[in-house]
Amino acid sequence: MLRVFPAHDSERARLVASAALAMLAVMALVLFMTLPRRADLTPAPLSARHILSFEHDVNACRAALASASFRTTLAPDVSGPGACGYHDGVQVAPPFYPYSQAVVSDCALAAGLMLWERDVVAKAAQQHLGTNVTEIEIAGAPYQCRPIAGRSDHRLSEHAYANAIDIGGFKLANGGVITIARAWRNGAPQEKAFLRDVRGGACRYFQAVLSPDYNRAHRSHLHFDLGRDKICR
Ligand SMILES: [Zn+2]
Repeated sequence: MLRVFPAHDSERARLVASAALAMLAVMALVLFMTLPRRADLTPAPLSARHILSFEHDVNACRAALASASFRTTLAPDVSGPGACGYHDGVQVAPPFYPYSQAVVSDCALAAGLMLWERDVVAKAAQQHLGTNVTEIEIAGAPYQCRPIAGRSDHRLSEHAYANAIDIGGFKLANGGVITIARAWRNGAPQEKAFLRDVRGGACRYFQAVLSPDYNRAHRSHLHFDLGRDKICR
């Protein structure tokens, strides 16, 4: 039997229906706002502002490197001794690989290195020296299980997590060699300008960039890392 609502009941039914509709609209809006945007689905590009986000996302990091034609292979995990070690380490494969030895590091550090070499070192060499860099000398590997400056009263270095690298100098296409140990203080003016530019440019990609200007422990190399301290000196 059809029930006819009295006037106040139909008013209430309308109100309930409107409230339900409003609730549905709000839910739809919330759902729409939390759906991944199209831009979120495309991989992050290889750029300075994405480097820190690569520290915990090796897949995004490798995709970004690949999008810039840097091929990577995954390295076996290293665990210990103590808190030392790393996982999801990568090695960038040739070509476009001017480093003096193969570098296995945290992927974010590798991304920083490739950007630094391509966008800072190559340009500074042309600008100040009129030549190309053919080799970047590695003075200290990314992974070294040791405290800062090798002192037992210091906390572990970022090297203990494959999250740092030491650069000793540069070989040039014209046969020249620029070492930090010699040229930082005693190089020709254009060599000094080149070294200051590659140090300053590194600060766009790394958290800590330490040169001979920082302390005596760095008189022979540039140290780059992606640790918690932001220093550019
Ligand atoms: Zn170092």
